[in-house]
Amino acid sequence: MNPPTHPPFFAVAEASREALADRLRRAGQRATPQRLVILGALRPGEHLSADEVFARVEPLLPGVNRSTVYRTLELFRDLGLVSETDLGAGVRQFEPLDGRHHHLVCHFCGARIELDDALVAPLREAIQARYGFAAGIDHLALFGRCAACERGAEGAGGADPAGGSR
Ligand SMILES: [Zn+2]
Ligand SMILES: [Zn+2]
Repeated sequence: MNPPTHPPFFAVAEASREALADRLRRAGQRATPQRLVILGALRPGEHLSADEVFARVEPLLPGVNRSTVYRTLELFRDLGLVSETDLGAGVRQFEPLDGRHHHLVCHFCGARIELDDALVAPLREAIQARYGFAAGIDHLALFGRCAACERGAEGAGGADPAGGSR
């Protein structure tokens, strides 16, 4: 049996607790202890499924209902506190939104590359200019084939050891 690995959010410092509460209040929501625990279970850079979030918060919120956790995540999403994205695993994954970031996801090997928002900003602006629509492109995932797999696909065609092209 592996010992349970407790992520560092178990030791959420008072200061960051206050910051979480502040985010909720600024969104016009009550900062209940339960909400703070759920929001605190999410970390920037991690994409967690609703089930993974539930698994993290359950030990801290004895008797918490799975659907309560799901609804709270959806509330956070609607408030713009977290992003909800399908990164190709076929499940919704949640991540706190501390500013914009985007992903390029390789369908072949699963590699994820961070996509610079500087490339996405012109799209946002063009949509605004053309449709008067403020697109909330805060967390974009684009799917395709990464450079390594692209090279692999080329090589797989011939498998010619004397190819010589570099
Ligand atoms: Zn992300
Ligand atoms: Zn790849």
